[in-house]
Amino acid sequence: MSFFEYRNGEMHAEGVTLAAIAAQVGTPFYCYSAGALRAGWREFADGIKGMKAPHKVGVCYAMKANSNLAVIRVFAEMGAGADIVSVGEMRRALAAGIPASRIIYSGVGKKASELMEALQAKVGQINVESTAELETLNAVAGQLGVRADITIRVNPDVDAGTHAKITTGRKENKFGIDIDLAREAFALAGRLPNLKVVGVAMHIGSQLTSLEPYRAAIVRVRELIGQLRADGHRIDRFDIGGGLGIVYADEKPPSIAEFMAVVARETAGLGCELTFEPGRRLVGESGVLVSEVILVKPGAAKTFVIVDAAMNDLIRPTLYEAWHDILPVREARQDAATIRCDIVGPICESGDFLAQNRDLPPLAAGDLVMIRSAGAYGAVMASSYNTRPLAPEVMVDGTRFAVIRPRPTIDEMLRAERFPPWMEPVKA
Ligand SMILES: *Cc1c(COP(=O)(O)O)cnc(C)c1O
Repeated sequence: MSFFEYRNGEMHAEGVTLAAIAAQVGTPFYCYSAGALRAGWREFADGIKGMKAPHKVGVCYAMKANSNLAVIRVFAEMGAGADIVSVGEMRRALAAGIPASRIIYSGVGKKASELMEALQAKVGQINVESTAELETLNAVAGQLGVRADITIRVNPDVDAGTHAKITTGRKENKFGIDIDLAREAFALAGRLPNLKVVGVAMHIGSQLTSLEPYRAAIVRVRELIGQLRADGHRIDRFDIGGGLGIVYADEKPPSIAEFMAVVARETAGLGCELTFEPGRRLVGESGVLVSEVILVKPGAAKTFVIVDAAMNDLIRPTLYEAWHDILPVREARQDAATIRCDIVGPICESGDFLAQNRDLPPLAAGDLVMIRSAGAYGAVMASSYNTRPLAPEVMVDGTRFAVIRPRPTIDEMLRAERFPPWMEPVKA
């Protein structure tokens, strides 16, 4: 079932028209389908059940993809853990009801103060990415008189075949410890008294549409696990990371069942509990960005459709050259002619576009458009550049909808700032 579809010529999110939400909330806004979020989670749960070899498996939602409390809560209610990359995200996960024991703390540059907060909150696992972090964490754990459960994230040096800005598993990427240096790092961890090594972690990139990089990486890490065990380490967990791709245009990402089958085959007999950290796959297609056309500007070379959403709301097109499907909220007639246009925002940057050279049915001022697959790395990457208030987020569940983050007023935005005390007050 599709959670965003035309019915009677009007785009619906589940049982609600996007036009009705726009009338109440204003544009632009993000809209998430709770049903789609749950369906995404269920696909993982079913995939795990369908694995041939019995595996102990945990799924930790990588919440940097979409960290709205209500979104996290949907997954928390279904038994999710969380993969976090900051103390701020830890606070969100806890506030949304994810138990600390199911939180994994990832990230290439954690500060001692952040590690301390995470240990005080009793997060379940810390994925360490450097020998310097091993030393820092050992010192912090010593101060608190606790022992930290850790994995070491290794960099298996495989090409994820994805965009350069979202590949993470090559030697030249900053993430993880080179797989060739991993044994030394585990030896160090084994000597540090306040660390308890529980396993190995990897995360090779994002928006992967092929399973081959996962297979190649698992083969390498599996070999490493054998060496580590021969070195005397206890390796009980294998954290496979996230990265599974979604549909933006005509990608054919593997199903979760296919993914799980490859993982199960390559880890058979390894005797490790498996962890998955899906982000984008759980939320990407569950969200859209809705925007209103401000005006249409025919140019000599092409037509510009200027809308009220911009790169500050959705930076993926300009940051990753990402392609997002754009549809009119009121369904176009089957025989409608199309115009070739750029869909752009009002921001003073040539990089401010949502789509380029797109053939769309004619649009006019006041029309609503829906930008698809915007649930991941959309609202979380938004800024208020040009003093544009952050777009609100709305959740639909069946025939209900609710604002889950309101649009700040300009007054609220200004109130967050202040003049230094030596400046003259502004005369009213
Ligand atoms: C970003 C990230 C993820 C999630 O990546 P997706 O491509 O959104 O699935 C998982 N694990 C780690 C360590 C990450 O940094």
